[in-house]
Amino acid sequence: MTKSIAIIGGGTAGWLTAAIIAAHHKTDSTEGLKISLIESSDIPTVGVGEGTWPTLRNTIRMIGLKEKDVFKRCHAGFKQGGKFVNWVKADGDSYYHPFTVPLGYGRIDLAPYVSNIEDYAIESNFQHHVCEAGLAPRTITDGEYQAQCNYAYHLDAGAFGQMLKEHCREKLDVQHIIGTVQDAVLADNGNIQSVSLTTEIGILDVEADLFVDCTGFKSLLLGEKLGVPFVSKDDVLFNDTALAMRIPYESENDPVATHTIATGQNAGWIWDIGLTHRRGIGHVYSSEYLSDDQAEANLRKYLGSAGKDISPRKISFKSGHRAQYWKNNCVAVGMSAGFVEPLEATAIMLVEIAARYIAENIPATSEIMRITEKRFNQQMDYRWSRIIDFLKLHYMLTKRPEPYWQAHTNPDSIPQSLKDDLAVWATRGPIKSDFEGAAELFPAASYQYVLYGMGFKPDFSVQNHLYQDKEKATRIIQQNQQLTQQMLQTLPPHREYIEKWLASNQ
Ligand SMILES: Cc1cc2nc3c(=O)[nH]c(=O)nc-3n(C[C@H](O)[C@H](O)[C@H](O)COP(=O)(O)OP(=O)(O)OC[C@H]3O[C@@H](n4cnc5c(N)ncnc54)[C@H](O)[C@@H]3O)c2cc1C
Repeated sequence: MTKSIAIIGGGTAGWLTAAIIAAHHKTDSTEGLKISLIESSDIPTVGVGEGTWPTLRNTIRMIGLKEKDVFKRCHAGFKQGGKFVNWVKADGDSYYHPFTVPLGYGRIDLAPYVSNIEDYAIESNFQHHVCEAGLAPRTITDGEYQAQCNYAYHLDAGAFGQMLKEHCREKLDVQHIIGTVQDAVLADNGNIQSVSLTTEIGILDVEADLFVDCTGFKSLLLGEKLGVPFVSKDDVLFNDTALAMRIPYESENDPVATHTIATGQNAGWIWDIGLTHRRGIGHVYSSEYLSDDQAEANLRKYLGSAGKDISPRKISFKSGHRAQYWKNNCVAVGMSAGFVEPLEATAIMLVEIAARYIAENIPATSEIMRITEKRFNQQMDYRWSRIIDFLKLHYMLTKRPEPYWQAHTNPDSIPQSLKDDLAVWATRGPIKSDFEGAAELFPAASYQYVLYGMGFKPDFSVQNHLYQDKEKATRIIQQNQQLTQQMLQTLPPHREYIEKWLASNQ
C-alpha cells in the first residue's frame, strides 16, 4: 500500500506535482497519503519556464488557486498562442499557432477553400486577429477562467514556484524538508528504500513508498541511482543552448503581447514573452552552428536599445528523455524525465499530465505498481515522440538557406513517424481523427496551423470527392470575418483589461 510519497526537488515540477497529488488526495483523516517535498537550498532551480498551455487553467483551479491571485503574484498575462516569425524564408514571414481551433473544426476542413494556404489561421480563426490587435481573450463581464478565446498564461516562473510552495505548505499539508540528497538506499528488489540528506541539523534519512524525482537535468534518482539511460534526440532537434534575459518595459503602459513570439535566427530562434512587469526574452540555438558571442549579438540586435546593461544567463541543455520514466517505486517528473527546447512550451504541461497520472494511479500493491509503471512508460514514450515530431514539423519545411536550417530539412534528421504523417498529409491535411487517442497532446488543429503556416499545401485534387463543400466553407469563412469584427470591437486591450480586472472586486 502506498502511504507516503517523497518528492525530491523544489522547482516548478516538484511543487506542481506536490500540489496536484495533494489536492487530489486531500482528506481530513490522519490516515491519508503523506506527501513530503525535499529541496536543496544549495542547488538553484532552472529559473525559466514562462509559457504554458491552456491545461494550466484546470490545473490551478483543481489545486485550489484563484486565477486572480496567480495574475497578481506571477505578473501574469494571457497567452493565446504562438507567433512564428521568419521561419519560412526570413523575409518577415509569419504565422500563428493560436489556441482556439478553426471555425467548423471537426465538421469541415477549410484548408482546401482558403485563398492562400499560408493564411489558413487568418481565414479560419479570429484569434490571429485578436493577438495582432493585442486584445485580452475576455471582457470585463466574463468571470474567472471564462473567455471568448482559448488561452493559457505567461507567468514569472520564480514567483509561480514560490506561490505553489506556500500553497502546498499552508493549504495542502505538504511537508517541506530543506536538505540536499546525497544518496539513496536500495532494497533487495531494486526499490528505493530511503534517501539520505544533509540538512542544517545533520544527516536525515527519509523513507517513502513512492519517490518522485524532480531534480531537474540531474535526474538524481531515476537517472543516476537507478541507471535509466538518457535517450538523446539531438539528431532531430539541434538546439542545446539558451541565453535568457529579463527586459524591463520602456514605459509601464507599454502593451503586453498576448502571444509568445518566436523569431527565427540564423541558427535558432528568439523567444519573447510579455509579463505585466517585464519581458522574458531568450535565444535558443545550436552551439554547433553558432558561438555564444554570435548568439548574444543576435539577441542585442533583436532588442535594439533595450537591455544594454543586462547580461544574459546561459543555460546548456540536452534534447531527449529517459529510456523510461517510472522504474520500480521511482517516477521522474519534469526535466529529470526529459527536456526539449521550449518552442511549444511543452514542459510544464507534461508535468501536469504526469502528476495527474500519479495522483489518479497511486499503486495499492507492488503488483499494481508494476502495471502502473508499464502503462505510464508507454504513454509517456508516445507523448515524447509526438512532441519531438511536432517540434520538428516547425523546422523541416523551412526554405531558409542557412546551414542550420538546411540541416533540419535533411530526411535523415526527420523521424519516420513524422515522414509517415507528411506522406498522408500530402493529399489531405491533418484531420481530427488523426489525433484522438487518450495520450495525444496536440489536436489536428495545431498541426494544421503549423503545417499550413509553413506553406505546405496538400494536393487536395487527388481526393477531390472529399472537398465538394465550397458553399459551406465560404459561409464559415465569412462567419469568421464577422466574428473577428465582433471580437475586435468588444475585447479590451490586454494590459488595460488585466489592470482593470485586478483592481475590481470581480
Ligand atoms: C531555456 C528554457 C526555457 C524554458 N521555457 C519553458 C516554457 O516556456 N514553458 C515550459 O513549460 N517550460 C519551459 N522550460 C522548462 C521549465 O523551465 C521546466 O520544465 C520547469 O522549470 C521545471 O523544472 P524542474 O522543476 O524539473 O527542474 P529545476 O527547476 O532545475 O528544479 C530542480 C530542483 O531539484 C532540486 N535538487 C537538485 N538536486 C537535488 C538534491 N541532490 N537534493 C535535493 N534537491 C535537489 C533543486 O534544488 C531544485 O529545487 C524551459 C526550460 C529552459 C531551459
